[in-house]
Amino acid sequence: MAKIKLPDGSTIELDNSSTARQLAEKIGPNLAKQAIAAQINGKLADLSTPLNDDVDLRIITIKDPQALDIMRHSCAHVMAEAICDIWPDTKLVYGPTVKDGFYYDIDLDESIHPDDFERIENKMREIIEQDRPFRRNEMTRQQALEKLAGDKYKTDNIKHVDSPVISFYSQGGGFEDLCRGPHVPTTGKIGPFKVMSVAGAYWHGDPTQKMLQRVYGTAWQTQKDLDDYLERLEEAKKRDHRILGKRLDLFSFNQAAPGFAFMHAKGMIIWNAIVDFWRDIHDRYGYQEIKTPIILNEELWHKSGHWDNYKENMYFTDIDGISYAIKPMNCPGGCLVYKTRQHSYRQFPMRVAELGLVHRHEASGVMHGLFRVRQFTQDDAHIFCTPPQIEAEIVSVIELTFEIYRAFGFEDFHIELSTKPEKHIGADEIWDISTNALSSALDYKKIPFKINEGDGAFYGPKIDFHLEDCLKRSWQLGTIQLDFSMPQRFGLVYTDKDNTEKTPVMIHRAVLGSFERFIGILIEHYAANFPLWLSPQHARVLPISEKTNDYALKVLHMLKDARLRCDADLSDEKVNAKIAKAHAEKIPYMLVVGPKEADAATVNVRTRGLKQNKTVAVDRFIQLAKQKIIDKTIDLDFQP
Ligand SMILES: [Zn+2]
Ligand SMILES: [Zn+2]
Repeated sequence: MAKIKLPDGSTIELDNSSTARQLAEKIGPNLAKQAIAAQINGKLADLSTPLNDDVDLRIITIKDPQALDIMRHSCAHVMAEAICDIWPDTKLVYGPTVKDGFYYDIDLDESIHPDDFERIENKMREIIEQDRPFRRNEMTRQQALEKLAGDKYKTDNIKHVDSPVISFYSQGGGFEDLCRGPHVPTTGKIGPFKVMSVAGAYWHGDPTQKMLQRVYGTAWQTQKDLDDYLERLEEAKKRDHRILGKRLDLFSFNQAAPGFAFMHAKGMIIWNAIVDFWRDIHDRYGYQEIKTPIILNEELWHKSGHWDNYKENMYFTDIDGISYAIKPMNCPGGCLVYKTRQHSYRQFPMRVAELGLVHRHEASGVMHGLFRVRQFTQDDAHIFCTPPQIEAEIVSVIELTFEIYRAFGFEDFHIELSTKPEKHIGADEIWDISTNALSSALDYKKIPFKINEGDGAFYGPKIDFHLEDCLKRSWQLGTIQLDFSMPQRFGLVYTDKDNTEKTPVMIHRAVLGSFERFIGILIEHYAANFPLWLSPQHARVLPISEKTNDYALKVLHMLKDARLRCDADLSDEKVNAKIAKAHAEKIPYMLVVGPKEADAATVNVRTRGLKQNKTVAVDRFIQLAKQKIIDKTIDLDFQP
């Protein structure tokens, strides 16, 4: 008899060699129908796994978050069979899941093209409709190596498996693949799917190896989930910040400086609006602002630990025969500023912010518009405090972070707490105090968070802020990191109450992360339809004919006197053409003026994204627009 303990604490006894599926059936037919896999003693396994020992077991149903991954991976097997069926010369390499889908790397001399996807999908559909069972076949490593003799890819895969038992999976038909599993019980459990794309990929990312073909696919629980996903992808394409940035003249890249953004005049207006807001709110939260050099002596980076841990990502230069490094982080500079004065516990907490320009090397293949660049401005800050002050400081940083995110219209965030990694410095006791300070600050704010066990930096635990944009894409932006190492390395001290010198706690934190990347995210989140306070231009005055040009100029001056960013379109074009042009430039307010408006000192306002026009006195329009800028209102609509 095997005694099975269920998540609710109850136990069920089963005959030896009963399977997880039989257990699900015993619990209830509904559960058996929805079952996808099992979690046995914390490890995911097939439903067909025989149960011989006393174990903790949970049935994974289609509703569980792990189920989607198991189903997608199973779909990768089906895609592999379909490809091998169409191109029998295919050699399979490996097929893991990725965010929103899966891929399979294959070695095939003939190139697969998007035209071929339908053929692959049809074959996959056939396999899925046949509802064939996935079957696990186990053997020893030696047997597996003999079975796969001559297959360099799969033989290599076996070398990466640390278990003495090697498993293969078949799915009916003659197809079989080396895999550790688990899979859905039958191919019929695979949801709506699509073959998405094909790209070149080197084996193990090694450019000296043969170029493989990486075929991407996606699979979802329901047709609606798949449709929504495809729609989000379409929408993301339309919102691509690289395309919008070029079209709206916000920024550019040039072969003269790969990975280094050129911000144009309109992009700088957005940039400066963010900086103004950032300065204002940091002032309110009690921060000072400093600026430290970009180039610092190499010695400093030996001391900070960057030389040992980060050298590959740094740029170096020589001045008068002495080696210098371009800073990848602002912390060492911040430490040098700290050391220019004596400090007492009375000055703590000391919050020092810096919009620091940092350079980090990125391989040319991974750079992506503003999202991944080699030079960026980090909204950095370092807080120096005593251990008992940590928790209150963390609470304050969390409040500041949320206030900033909400100002930009982001409401969905989630938080992850990363704890002590295996390789770390500092006493366990200090780790416990700091990790507790981070988690109790989150508890105090009643913020749910996920724990990433062992994922902290080697010098201290950290909290990461992830936010979701309107296309449900998650972005890691802010971070709070406690540091026990750097203050010591740099010999930072303060005089405590008892007149002894102590080492302060150093908290590193960034809210937006990189200004460049954040602007890229804003462009895509808003599809460049920025709220008024961030818009490069607030309004354009559009006279309906030459006769009202004078009035248009008068309105323009009134707006400019009120410091609104605006211009007037006095061209010979018809007013509808002028409106279409302003629309294409995503200008929030188009102020149409004719003789009627001139007589009444009004403007006829067309608001971006709204159908209804509204006539309003010029003074009133100015007042409304200014209030929206002050309040950072996202909605452009107004009551006259
Ligand atoms: Zn598999
Ligand atoms: Zn730092």
